[in-house]
Amino acid sequence: MTHIMPTYNRLPVTFDRGEGVWLIDVNNQRYLDALSGIAVCNLGHAHTAVHKAICAQSEKLLHTSNLYNIANQELLADKLIKKSGMSNVFFCNSGAEANEAAIKLARKFGHSKGIEKPAIIVMEKSFHGRTLATLSATGNAKVQQGFEPLVEGFTRVPYNDVKAIEDALKTNQNIVAILVEPIQGEGGINIPAPDYLNQIRRICDAHDILMMLDEIQSGIGRTGQFLAYQHNDILPDVCTLAKALGNGVPIGACLARGKASEILTAGAHGSTFGGNPLACAAGIAVLNTLEAENLIALAQVKGDNLRTLFSEKLKDNQHIVDIRNKGLMIGIELDKPCAELVKIALDQHLLINVTNDSTIRLLPPLIITKQESQYLVDTLVAIINAYTTQIH
Ligand SMILES: *Cc1c(COP(=O)(O)O)cnc(C)c1O
Repeated sequence: MTHIMPTYNRLPVTFDRGEGVWLIDVNNQRYLDALSGIAVCNLGHAHTAVHKAICAQSEKLLHTSNLYNIANQELLADKLIKKSGMSNVFFCNSGAEANEAAIKLARKFGHSKGIEKPAIIVMEKSFHGRTLATLSATGNAKVQQGFEPLVEGFTRVPYNDVKAIEDALKTNQNIVAILVEPIQGEGGINIPAPDYLNQIRRICDAHDILMMLDEIQSGIGRTGQFLAYQHNDILPDVCTLAKALGNGVPIGACLARGKASEILTAGAHGSTFGGNPLACAAGIAVLNTLEAENLIALAQVKGDNLRTLFSEKLKDNQHIVDIRNKGLMIGIELDKPCAELVKIALDQHLLINVTNDSTIRLLPPLIITKQESQYLVDTLVAIINAYTTQIH
């Protein structure tokens, strides 16, 4: 009898160790991890650079609290600022916490402008986390149900709809920010129009409101740029990170720029663990490795290659609605709900995920090789074809 709260429907497998894109279970069976622990292990499992960095740091110091200066935090912040074009960083321990910091920052920005009930524009089908404020920002009724009353101060519009944002701004004088994912992950790998973020930047400038990007899933090299907004040649005012930043060591970050970087002053926000020496050592190793192994540019090449292979091999399957990707953020949309595919793939030793009921989501580690990519395509195409033939 388990003593874990039943908050997850777990698949019947227990992993013991990992090697690159492979996970090995307690019975020594190998599985190809095409999900990276949900976009976390972008460098694959047991990467030597991360392993060495956290071993070395654990011999010296794990934690001091933020009552004191933390050298690794300064180092990681410097690297993040250089790579992102942002101004400063607040460190925390998860994605939800990074978004909480962003939401608090936006509200305080509103109050500084004399807006007593600040509101933030958020999107349908968005996902921002499971804390009360972030589940209220999330555009998924299943995440919210049973936890009412929701946190107020969010105005929802359809994703990839610039006019809906403009209309919301016309009718609501309390809007202080827009919070949006550059690509929706949980919502079904939804890739907006190429100039969507540029339009949002223009609107935020025109209305003096904050552009806040949730890059928790799309960031850290996955889409072929360090951050997905770098495809658009713009800078947001706030950007949240977590997931792959520590390659499995919990760490989150809220980056701010310009006027947004001056809002959260001493005493306004905090975290006991946030940015501790161990988590930041992992973050530094991750950023160094992305550069040393040229993984960000490769993510684009590998992702496009995977999409091409899938498109060729699935071109005769009438049940495929769309195959889309930005780097190694890949969605294969079927014309029917296909959640069962996760278990079927597991039985074939392949780890995948299905989001928005009918979209297979692939987030393989950035270190995946050509051979491993080919194996992923061959295995998954066979699974999809068998499945769609059977449900036909
Ligand atoms: C995973 C995710 C979050 C939440 O991160 P946690 O670390 O689980 O709190 C928020 N936003 C996006 C886009 C995510 O993918």
